[in-house]
Amino acid sequence: MPGKILYVEDNPQNMRLVKKILIAAGYEVLEAYEGLVGIATAAREQPDLILMDINLPDINGLEATQRLKASPQLSWIPIIAVTANAMHGDRDNCLAAGCDGYLAKPVMKNELLNTVSVFLSQSTGARSGGVS
Ligand code: MN
Repeated sequence: MPGKILYVEDNPQNMRLVKKILIAAGYEVLEAYEGLVGIATAAREQPDLILMDINLPDINGLEATQRLKASPQLSWIPIIAVTANAMHGDRDNCLAAGCDGYLAKPVMKNELLNTVSVFLSQSTGARSGGVS
């Protein structure tokens, strides 16, 4: 299934790794290295899915998620948090901020592709206004 995925991530190594996996699986990948750039890119490109790092140089991924979810034009886009902060409560913080899903770093190829596939099938329905 084709899909356009925005990855908001300030770590170039993580960006390279995730991008390589997604492109090999046939997805189009957009990059943003800062939270505000990520929001602007989402507004301009209307990606089908957003992968969101939490620790970013400007606003953090939780705040970026809250802003995206507050926008009527962008709130339908599924956001999957990707974070190394595997501390207790971290997942809850992400979901409370409006993230639809959660992936722990280090990102595992199969887990990444499975999660992306599940949320993309949901967002395709949401965008078209069809059943989901
Ligand atoms: Mn980071």
